[in-house]
Amino acid sequence: MKVLEKVRSQTGHEGNDVMENYFSTTVQAIKENIIHHLMSFQGRDPERSGARDVYKALAYTMRDIMVEKWISTQKTFYAKQKKRVYYLSLEFLIGRSLGNSMTNLGILDAAKKAVEELGFDMEEIRNQEEDAALGNGGLGRLAACFMDSIATLKIPAYGYGIRYEYGLFFQQLVDGYQVEGPDNWLFDGTPWEFERSLPLFNVQFFGNVTGYVDENGNYRAKWVNTKDVKARASDIMVPGYRNDHVINMRLWSAQSSRELDLTDFSKGDYIGAVESKVSSETISKVLYPPDHNYAGQELRLKQQYFFVAATFQDIMRRYKKKHDSFDQFTDRVAVQLNDTHPAIAIPELMRILLDLEGLSWEEAWHICVNTFAYTNHTLMPEALERWSVEMMGRVLPRHLQIIYEINQRFLDELAQRYPGNVRKLRDLSIIEEGPVKMVRMAHLAIIGSHSVNGVAELHSKLLKERIFPDFHEFFPGRFNSKTNGITPRRWLLDVNPELADLISGRIGFGWITDLDQLRGLESFVEDTEFRQSWQRIKFNNKKRLADYIKKTVGVTVSPDTMFDIQVKRIHEYKRQLLNALHLIYLYHRIVRGEADDMVPRTAVFAGKAAPSYWRAKLIIKLITSIADVVNNDPRVKDRLKVVFLPNYNVSQAEIIMVAADLSEQISTAGTEASGTGNMKFSLNGALTIGTLDGANIEIREEVGKENIFIFGMTAEEAEYERKNASRTPWQICRKNGEIAEIIESIGDGSFSDGNKDLFKPLVDSLMDKHDPYLLLLDLESYIDCQKRVNRAYLDQENWTRTAILNVARMGKFSTDRTIKEYAEEIWGIPVG
Ligand SMILES: *Cc1c(COP(=O)(O)O)cnc(C)c1O
Repeated sequence: MKVLEKVRSQTGHEGNDVMENYFSTTVQAIKENIIHHLMSFQGRDPERSGARDVYKALAYTMRDIMVEKWISTQKTFYAKQKKRVYYLSLEFLIGRSLGNSMTNLGILDAAKKAVEELGFDMEEIRNQEEDAALGNGGLGRLAACFMDSIATLKIPAYGYGIRYEYGLFFQQLVDGYQVEGPDNWLFDGTPWEFERSLPLFNVQFFGNVTGYVDENGNYRAKWVNTKDVKARASDIMVPGYRNDHVINMRLWSAQSSRELDLTDFSKGDYIGAVESKVSSETISKVLYPPDHNYAGQELRLKQQYFFVAATFQDIMRRYKKKHDSFDQFTDRVAVQLNDTHPAIAIPELMRILLDLEGLSWEEAWHICVNTFAYTNHTLMPEALERWSVEMMGRVLPRHLQIIYEINQRFLDELAQRYPGNVRKLRDLSIIEEGPVKMVRMAHLAIIGSHSVNGVAELHSKLLKERIFPDFHEFFPGRFNSKTNGITPRRWLLDVNPELADLISGRIGFGWITDLDQLRGLESFVEDTEFRQSWQRIKFNNKKRLADYIKKTVGVTVSPDTMFDIQVKRIHEYKRQLLNALHLIYLYHRIVRGEADDMVPRTAVFAGKAAPSYWRAKLIIKLITSIADVVNNDPRVKDRLKVVFLPNYNVSQAEIIMVAADLSEQISTAGTEASGTGNMKFSLNGALTIGTLDGANIEIREEVGKENIFIFGMTAEEAEYERKNASRTPWQICRKNGEIAEIIESIGDGSFSDGNKDLFKPLVDSLMDKHDPYLLLLDLESYIDCQKRVNRAYLDQENWTRTAILNVARMGKFSTDRTIKEYAEEIWGIPVG
């Protein structure tokens, strides 16, 4: 189509010089293409199309532009015979794609104009898009940010994941309680994917292993009598920032195996055939929320293997097109495992090389270790994945055999190095002995990879010292650190266009792909006009959030108050409860008439609790109950408002991050691996109140300790207190009457209509001297720190100066930096 050629020829140029003439022809081309899509593909009368139709037509227009760039990108990969990276993740928390695509393709303004000329508002069009919520939180969002940076840095890489039919559950609040609903994001399809009919890969499950002797007299295993499922690919294109580069994210969905159906049909068992079709398709039906009770959740293991088996058939197919031996495999293929979720890939690659390709164990193992790299995401021992040996043996009998052999060979090496040290063998074994034998996936991932990385400096240090010290001793050099980041395209340029414009007006556009250039903003700190613009933009963003709050929960909040925000998954270690305790403290002071110097605050929470995590759900109920009491007490007036926004997701985060004055990053030191929410807030000019945990430590290093509010114990102090309980919650309450009053008010039913039982479990855990999250031990320090925040906020000019310095010094936290480090230090790919 001619129209499209015009767009193609005029987009993707580096730089920002949009000539008037060029602009108007682009606008015209986009408009014509939208109309073309409305008519030819959607069968709609452009005159009668609604916002949803136009959204889809515009999305298809973006996809048309991307597809050609994508094809040429793939050709350059092939032509240059480069090493490819495969980023394997069970989660990609993508959110919406329209805004990001328009931005990265460099046609946001033209598209806006085109949409307006068709009689629509871009904001309305963008709001038609469903979030692709194919992830739980930070880990999944990291994978999505990585795709953006990989495309922008032109790294030859592919993302691989699962096309869940239902993403992360939809959260509603009913009577202040979390209620989960299905997230049917595909109810109307998605314009962003290409569903492929080929390749269609076969994935085996169950069955048994038989042996045979091959022509060379070697014993070979054969996996037979399996129940099979087909894997079908959907491709989603990810454009780099204005660089004509488009990479592919391939998501698998399960499809029943036709042969199997046909045999059932021919036996006349119609219902059985349909049932088996449905049951095999359940494999990609739904994203699992984090849950400690996976043992016995066969479907989750099947999901993981389904994903890995399909991905490796694709990897092998691509490798074998150019190579007829495996000599060059590790020079051509690098695989990054995003947590242990895809770690079954290690025995899968061994199985392929041993059973299908006929390599020796030693050859296969060498390839394996040099192919895989593993990223750990947690410091919580209970969050490390383990599968029962019984289940693994049933679902994946050949893989269990291979795991046993990997383990045996590893234990033999250990025994040689540490003669007689039974403790070491038991602790490091992949198999955990006990009443129910378990496969420890993290041990498998460490043993089977050449690189194991944490996601922030402290996290990586604690992995080496506290979680896996014996592995670190045995494999020195295998452990390393790659501090997380966020993509500045989505998390500043897209979500905060006014601030992005202000910044670019002063320092140019270079920061968009070289975030360190934000340093240039430091010289505008004393520029009053600049600060005024800065404040006006923050105010506008706060107003937008205030409108959103009014619309979603019906609470009126003023953008003139301090927006104090904590949004993230609800988890005890993240300590939303600590924040809640402080709000009760403020409430009590207001009621007692001690609030003269108090800055009016709007406290905002959002986040989902895992459906089976009752304690986290009770914390939500407490926060919504505090909100009910505080927001309806006439004595409070407008000095404090508390809001819990339902259904936190990426598109909600986009509204929230830009509107915060204060970012709450208050996990118990030594529990949060990195955090990335902390970076999103800071990049948009919020000041952080936080503990010395995860990437907060590196944020402090970058912005300077005078520009961040740090409180509480260090990871070392927390560790010491957990062991020794030198101070107990009771002692703290006896000493500090105000703190005692906070706890009492939760226990005495002040926030639960007199019901003293409702929040008793929370009071008990707070008062437990073995509380692993040490809330009361940090509370005094937190309250004092909040007082410093209050004082600082009274001086708005200085607050703004500090906010500017925070943004100016966030360069390190671009995923461009993170990905460059992965590429050069782990994958062996130099970045230009
Ligand atoms: C960034 C992000 C997270 C991670 O937040 P943390 O504060 O780092 O835990 C979780 N969910 C969504 C939707 C996000 O955008």
